[in-house]
Order: sequence, then C-alpha cells, then structure tokens
Amino acid sequence: MADACLFCSIVAGAIPAEVVRRENGMIAFNDIAPKAPVHVLVVPERHVDSLAGVEGLTPGERADMLAFIAAVARDHDLEGTGYRVTTNHGDDGRQSVHHLHWHVMGGAPLSDTM
Ligand code: AMP
Repeated sequence: MADACLFCSIVAGAIPAEVVRRENGMIAFNDIAPKAPVHVLVVPERHVDSLAGVEGLTPGERADMLAFIAAVARDHDLEGTGYRVTTNHGDDGRQSVHHLHWHVMGGAPLSDTM
C-alpha cells in the first residue's frame, strides 16, 4: 500500500466504501460526492499514481480494467442511455486522489462543456 493513499485504504478495507463490483484486481465503488445519478469510481487494486503510470500494471490488468469498466456500466443499465468514462491526471486535469481511477458517470444527460 502506498503511504496514506486513500484508495489503497479502501482496497484494503481500512476505509469503508460502497463497493459495487470487485474482480480481477479491480474494485468499483460509488463516488462519495456524486456528480451524476450514477457516479462510480473504478480503481485497480495495484497502486499506480495515474494513467501516466499505467505501465506499472500488467498487460492483463490493463485489459481487465477496460472490460471491468464496461461491466460496471452494464451493471447500472447505462448501455442504452449512454455514459461517460474519464480519468484525471495532474494539476491541470484536477486530479485530487493520486491513485489511478476512472469516473463512470451516467443516468442523466451529462454536461457538454467538458
Ligand atoms: P479526481 O479528482 O479525479 O482525483 O477524483 C477523485 C474522486 O474521489 C472525487 O470524485 C471524490 O469525490 C472521490 N472521493 C474522495 N474520497 C472518497 C471516498 N472516501 N470514497 C469515495 N469517493 C471518494
């Protein structure tokens, strides 16, 4: 576990979260401050700081991550209506938690300004 990493603490069960799916080294839980009716965070259990460090995951983990994101959207019945998947890196990207994560958002029409 990276020192004082919030999402590593959630992965370890030391901090509670509303987990909605977990398999193949990936975990998904509801965002604590949702910006859409569905706002799930998808997190690889292995710590890498952001997408810029994705080489720190194995090729299998990288592939599983994409399939896992799609499965989370399917779990929430978002395929028909649509959804958005984003990840933030660094200051300009407004990343606030420095453990790679994907925002899966949907359940209503999303802003077209970002
Ligand atoms: P980012 O700004 O891309 O780094 O996104 C970090 C996200 O983590 C934000 O949407 C926060 O609302 C969310 N977040 C922060 N703390 C928690 C927590 N304890 N459980 C669930 N989501 C969290």
